[in-house]
Amino acid sequence: MENMTRVIAGTAFHTPNRNKMRPLRDCAIAIDAAGTIQSVTTPGDTDHESILARAEANGSLFTLPEDSYLIPGLVDLHIHAPQWPQLGKALDAPLEDWLLKYTFPLEAKFADHAYAFEVYDDLVATLLAHGTTTAVYFGSVDLKANIILAEACLRHGQRAVIGKVAMDDPDTCPDYYRDPSAEDAIAQTRAFIDAVAALQDGQNGKVPLVHAAITPRFVPSCTDDLLHGLGALAAETGARVQTHCAESDWEVEYVRNRLGKTDAEALKDFGLLTDKTILAHSNFVTSSDMTHLAHAGASIAHCPLSNAYFANAVLPVRRALDHGVKVGLGTDISGGFSPSLFDAARYALMASRCACSGTEPSVTAKARGTGEAPLTTTEVFWLATKGGANAASLPVGAFEPGAQFDAIAIQSGGATSGFRRSDTDTMQDIFEKLVLNATAAAISKVWVAGAEVKTRPEQAR
Ligand SMILES: [Zn+2]
Repeated sequence: MENMTRVIAGTAFHTPNRNKMRPLRDCAIAIDAAGTIQSVTTPGDTDHESILARAEANGSLFTLPEDSYLIPGLVDLHIHAPQWPQLGKALDAPLEDWLLKYTFPLEAKFADHAYAFEVYDDLVATLLAHGTTTAVYFGSVDLKANIILAEACLRHGQRAVIGKVAMDDPDTCPDYYRDPSAEDAIAQTRAFIDAVAALQDGQNGKVPLVHAAITPRFVPSCTDDLLHGLGALAAETGARVQTHCAESDWEVEYVRNRLGKTDAEALKDFGLLTDKTILAHSNFVTSSDMTHLAHAGASIAHCPLSNAYFANAVLPVRRALDHGVKVGLGTDISGGFSPSLFDAARYALMASRCACSGTEPSVTAKARGTGEAPLTTTEVFWLATKGGANAASLPVGAFEPGAQFDAIAIQSGGATSGFRRSDTDTMQDIFEKLVLNATAAAISKVWVAGAEVKTRPEQAR
């Protein structure tokens, strides 16, 4: 296998742990044919020079330009793929209008498979150009459209978790956009899990790039029969689960009125809280819910931008992490208006700072906010990379032997990159500038599973 190894050399930043950024100055990352990191060395390590020399001799060395930095690829834990055409639209509308007037009619259009192909091709290419190497997608109700999304991810080389949306309750879902029955929704979900596995048959020795997730939209749009059935399917197949949880006052109240418990308790009782469950939002989970989540090994996809529109509250991220709950970030396209996970990280910082200090000037400083410590730049970067990878149960998010090499290169300078290095900057300064300033135009290269998948965003067109 020696001749199959490739080496990427340059300076990298990563956060294997949430409190500490680790710079890897002039490192060499050796990657095997399956995209798995074999070794990470820096000058002074015993093998470092020989790894570089061997790679150079056999033409498998790629050295990053001096003005560029390597970071792990970004992990977006919550995207509604069929909402891509309405990104940025109608966010001033109340949630009910937003769903019934705009979102459900748009999602229903994906039963047109030519339309699905066109939209998903553009979505996957654009997210890769923004550095999203792993995307966790809600698809639509239509089975075939979700297979088209999985094919788009495989064609472009994006790592993904995808779910066929299940929603069958005639009281809450429109007739033109819902599963005809619980049995039908469960059968179609099973068919989707099988279809995703079949798409990747024959990829000898490679880690599958695309994974299926059992995806009840949320408790209010599903009957008890459907939720029970999907819980049983999760236990039978071991597939990932994704849904929305405790997003807003309305959702919390709806679930309490219908089932007499919290949203998280309901999901737990339906068998939908597993160590491979990703719960979008979860702003209103109680302290005891957090303990349930941590015990089950379930994760939260924190979507600060969407929450500013639809959630009525800010998720106390640090509290969830301190309870042992896995947390990462989501754009919640199109409940949020930006496709960039860098933006999600920045909005997470802003939301956290506002929640911690409070916002109403007429209230005394002491009583104004939660008084908790706000998230740091290092922590939101960790949420966007390693935290998200942990939440999605995927071996990515940091440059460690055994992990898959998913990475992006960020280049300093240029009129639109946002990211500018100066002579007096320390490594920590450069890292912070990169996290807070880099735009998609600063992303010069994107790798998934060791393969280069995209260069400049202009070339994605
Ligand atoms: Zn959502």
